[in-house]
Amino acid sequence: MIADAQCVVLGAGGLGCPALLGLRMAGARRITIVDHDRVEVSNLHRQVLYDTGDVGAPKAEVAARWLRRHGVEATARIERLVPEGTDSMIAALDDDAIVLECTDAPALKFACNDACVRHRRTLVLGAAIGLRGHAIAVVPGSACYRCVFEAPPPGELVPSCVEAGVLGTAVGTTGMFLAHLAAAVAEGHADAVAGRLFELALGSGIVRALGGRPRPHCSCATARSPSHRRPRIATVC
Ligand SMILES: [Zn+2]
Repeated sequence: MIADAQCVVLGAGGLGCPALLGLRMAGARRITIVDHDRVEVSNLHRQVLYDTGDVGAPKAEVAARWLRRHGVEATARIERLVPEGTDSMIAALDDDAIVLECTDAPALKFACNDACVRHRRTLVLGAAIGLRGHAIAVVPGSACYRCVFEAPPPGELVPSCVEAGVLGTAVGTTGMFLAHLAAAVAEGHADAVAGRLFELALGSGIVRALGGRPRPHCSCATARSPSHRRPRIATVC
């Protein structure tokens, strides 16, 4: 159950704020927030846990304070997240931890995917830009992020939110959806949602669930044990 799990939210920005709201709505009671950044005026419209009085304060601390005021046991870790540090961080988490990757750094998403696959932790990750979002839940034995996207694209091909723009409600919907996936997995629905890429085409209102079958030569294949291998049907709906 989500109430018993250690939820670890990486990044407390545009995705992280609605994800934290969603975790609280789902009944999460233990949440750790990891972020080194400070609240800025320019982001307040979509980072809904902060207001003008918080400008300059560490996001992780402000978000944890908000959660505590609402009955959640919240811990702030003011740390800069870098791909090289993810393996040891993920390895140190509880076996039942659920990691929500909510940063805007593609390299970090792949590093978190690899570490969670290696250490058999549950991971939910996603991204949003413009009017589009995507999200995936990865559990031991399911398809992983690399099964869908083999590697991060070259940095110059990844537009930032500043360059491409993002609607506040698009990133909010995606962040809330990440919390929903975490809750679905924790409440026993992993077989229905894990390993599938959910594409949120928010301009047209269409949500598609893609794939679901682990890629045979993906690096996650060696981390699968026979007891977790199950037939999956690739679907598009
Ligand atoms: Zn994989």
